[in-house]
Amino acid sequence: MIVIPLGVSSATPTAVRHLPSVALWREGSVYLFDCGENAQMRLLQAGIKRSKVETIFISHMDGDHIFGLFGLLSTLQLQRRNKPLKIIGPEGLKKMIDAVLEATTLQIEYELQFKELKSDFEHEVVLEQEDFYVEARPLKHTTFCIGYRLQEKDKPGKVDAQKATDAGITEDAHFKALKAGEDVTLEDGTIVHSADIVGDPRTGESFVYVTDTEFCENAVRLSENATILYHEATFGEPLKEKAEDTGHSSAQDAAIVAKTAKVDRLVIGHFSARYSNQFLLLKEARGVFEKTWIAYELRPIFTNPAQEKEIISPRVEIIDLKDKRAQHSKKTFKPAGGQRQKSGFKKKRFKRKPSNARYYKSGDSDRPQPRRDRYKKPHKPGDNEKTSPHRPSKPLPITPRTPFDDFDRF
Ligand SMILES: [Zn+2]
Repeated sequence: MIVIPLGVSSATPTAVRHLPSVALWREGSVYLFDCGENAQMRLLQAGIKRSKVETIFISHMDGDHIFGLFGLLSTLQLQRRNKPLKIIGPEGLKKMIDAVLEATTLQIEYELQFKELKSDFEHEVVLEQEDFYVEARPLKHTTFCIGYRLQEKDKPGKVDAQKATDAGITEDAHFKALKAGEDVTLEDGTIVHSADIVGDPRTGESFVYVTDTEFCENAVRLSENATILYHEATFGEPLKEKAEDTGHSSAQDAAIVAKTAKVDRLVIGHFSARYSNQFLLLKEARGVFEKTWIAYELRPIFTNPAQEKEIISPRVEIIDLKDKRAQHSKKTFKPAGGQRQKSGFKKKRFKRKPSNARYYKSGDSDRPQPRRDRYKKPHKPGDNEKTSPHRPSKPLPITPRTPFDDFDRF
């Protein structure tokens, strides 16, 4: 599965962050979690076909999480969608969409299948498919809000082809039977046991979507042993009181949920517009739960990172912005496994002018042409590592300049 954050802002969008929506790609189908304004454009920009959207899960009825629905429904109509679209969310969803359809010229000809949850529900499986299901639990926000977990069912183990051939299995039907856990009797009466040929069942992957909520038990229950937990981190701990007043979590709250539920990875999103540097929130969360990533719009997150190609070790670490010494070391940063970065200045030797130097006048025909490099910027001592007296003995990590630098995968 691949998780693609489409909008990671909270209620107010910024110049670089859009309203909440997350796409989950699985086996060629797309599942949307919330549908803020611009969700359909972000799908397009992420390279995801809007026609592949099978189901939309809505967390709650706040406008910033649903106003993208109408535009998307309209586009799907213009694309002449001819298969049903499931929309799952709190009660009132159908009424709202019907009202918009009635008040506008928008006519939907494909089937909309609604599943609405009542505000007093406790736990429900809202979607059941052959190889996965989605369960929902209520969260703790100022309005009725729902958290979701998409859980793949366990897959059968892999058939060891060599072992099967050695045991005399040649027919496809026998391979299938072994994979399904059945023992096979060959023509000569030999019994081939499935357990000897097929490996252990593989645990299904899971994705949990928790936003908007204060820290609550249900968030932990939904997230137990999840592969990826996408959790809101609207504020930092210094604004804890504001988070509680508005029914939101701090980055630390998200990390506590992840730690308690023992998830594989936490991805934080839904950042307040006041944070132009969301890495402060990442740093706070990593203080509690190290395996935290930041949601960056359109940057895909694989549930199985091994499926990504060319994975390399992290290039930079997060440091305390108040730590002057670490910041000073930016120029001496050495990337993992690579050579020291070149400063961009060529090493220059200064020659002393000989004592018998001749001074030319402007009209002298044999006057040497001025050297272009005289007009270059003067060489600062810090730029030449060998001459810098303050150079620390070991290169220290730097603060990432772009969000791209932070990911373990790049
Ligand atoms: Zn929100």
